[in-house]
Amino acid sequence: MLKFKVGDKVKITSGKDKGREGTIEKVFSVAGKAVLPGLNEYKKHIKPSSGKKGGIFTIPRPIVLSKLKLICPSCSKETKVGFRIAGDVKMRFCKKCGKEITHKK
Ligand SMILES: [Zn+2]
Repeated sequence: MLKFKVGDKVKITSGKDKGREGTIEKVFSVAGKAVLPGLNEYKKHIKPSSGKKGGIFTIPRPIVLSKLKLICPSCSKETKVGFRIAGDVKMRFCKKCGKEITHKK
């Protein structure tokens, strides 16, 4: 189980976007990376080809999960994620306030 999930609010702890906050849009569990819209972006020049328009596109580059810190939805503090087993279910919880970390879908 990963510490980060889609919809988590996180803060970047290193790199050019250090200190900025965002919400995880996509998680690549095998690569251990996440995409945060509007953060860690780079510009890509695409040449027009076979009916597609060319130009400069801004694309978010996935960020390594170790560079992210979770912001707890309950206490709004930067925190570490803990795991707790409740019956058959593994839950994530905030190590600062002890509350479960969940998102409404
Ligand atoms: Zn908390």
